[in-house]
Amino acid sequence: MKYQPVIGLEVHVQLLTDTKIFCGCSTKFGAEPNSQTCPVCLGLPGALPVLNKKVVEFAIKAGLSTNCSITPRSIFARKNYFYPDLPKGYQISQFEDPICQWGWLDIKVGEETKRIGITRIHMEEDAGKLVHGELSGPGDGSGVDLNRACTPLLEVVSEPDLRSSDEAVAYLKQLHQIVTWLGICDGNMEEGSFRCDANVSVMPVGSDKLGTRAEIKNVNSFKFVKLAIEYEIQRQIDLIEDGGTVVQETRLFDPNSGKTRSMRSKEEAHDYRYFPDPDLVPLVISEQWIERSRGELPELPEQRQQRFMAELGLPPYDAEVLTACRALADYFEAGVAAGGNAKAVGNWVMGEITRALNDSGTSIETCPVSPEQLAELLKLIDNGTISGKIAKTVFDEMWRSGKAPQAIVEEQGLIQVSDSGAIEGIIDEIIAANAGQVEEYRGGKEKVFGFFVGQVMKASKGKANPTVVNELLLNKLKG
Ligand code: ADP
Ligand code: MG
Ligand code: ZN
Repeated sequence: MKYQPVIGLEVHVQLLTDTKIFCGCSTKFGAEPNSQTCPVCLGLPGALPVLNKKVVEFAIKAGLSTNCSITPRSIFARKNYFYPDLPKGYQISQFEDPICQWGWLDIKVGEETKRIGITRIHMEEDAGKLVHGELSGPGDGSGVDLNRACTPLLEVVSEPDLRSSDEAVAYLKQLHQIVTWLGICDGNMEEGSFRCDANVSVMPVGSDKLGTRAEIKNVNSFKFVKLAIEYEIQRQIDLIEDGGTVVQETRLFDPNSGKTRSMRSKEEAHDYRYFPDPDLVPLVISEQWIERSRGELPELPEQRQQRFMAELGLPPYDAEVLTACRALADYFEAGVAAGGNAKAVGNWVMGEITRALNDSGTSIETCPVSPEQLAELLKLIDNGTISGKIAKTVFDEMWRSGKAPQAIVEEQGLIQVSDSGAIEGIIDEIIAANAGQVEEYRGGKEKVFGFFVGQVMKASKGKANPTVVNELLLNKLKG
């Protein structure tokens, strides 16, 4: 029997607000344990939550950017469960009326585009963190750090529309791109700012009845999501083939073994005894508020790609790469605005700049070569001052010293030689010194031409204009 995998993702997006969702404590990562707490996030009796407006604004932006409807009157609910990192004994979340619903993302896998439904996006508070061992304080027991308690999260829940690990990763990457592009999440997966629960089931091919799902908790890299889903699909198929049945449960992925293992049986929604939080009034969002937010949205990656193709004539591949993140797209456009040819600026950004950033572990935000300097460098190539090859040497020096390209070219005497007299002189010498190769060429071995070009370029220290070299060489060798 053949099986069809089915996947739905729940993604937790930690919001980049300065303060927590229901109190004024800082959300800064990495502070001394419990130093960013107050009666509200410690869950002390009588303390009352006050909603952070910024969280609502971010949620609306996320919803509008993922084609959701914004709920005019949404409700906060208590999700009740006991755990030591949850001092109130419940998490404030949303249940029946979440702030965003019925959205979608169009993902690309290979050549195909596929629409993936987004069931809902809701706002909620994060829990604290348990710290085990040495760091937990005196003795070697466990401690609780409540700095993270009450940190604002969005939970983005997809429909079970994904059919492979590749589709799941494509969806996740696109969502990651959108929330970082909007500036509402730093996207740092290692620190847990963007983490995913993957729900996986399998069913016989052709069936319309979904199989029982297992939920793999808190996977925190694109690579692990792919591995975890693939392992889980195979585990379920093997189980069914062996005559077993999949049980609904929560599982953990262990990156070291590449396997998932059972953590606990899955709670159903009714186990949480959800009910509307009496401490928080319903959240009413007016049509004007939504329209104002819509007006404040930046041009999104997809729109920007389209514009790069239509206005700047970029090929689809370049447009996609250059909109991988907003800072990269901004850099590229600044280079074009400074007079660079779009295709050339794009090639340099995707080539030399990306290579240099990777080699030095720098991000585009702190690129030592400004887009204006890059445009100047390209002008020097265009007007024949330097060759494309020498430009790479100049670029490396710009990167190191921060100097302007013109200054480097002058200082190091890198100006391209286009004067045919000077180049002819070099060519004559090379021809005289390589009589054997000249014979070969004239005898029909045309490949030898490349050897001559190389020799002339070398003798000119790379400064001879390659077009002129080619032309003159061809004439001379014909004899
Ligand atoms: P819970 O919080 O109980 O996990 P949610 O409704 O928040 O429930 O999320 C359920 C997730 O599981 C959704 O992303 C949904 O698409 C996915 N899902 C539901 N049924 C299946 C299934 N049979 N196979 C795979 N994924 C599923
Ligand atoms: Mg879940
Ligand atoms: Zn607080």
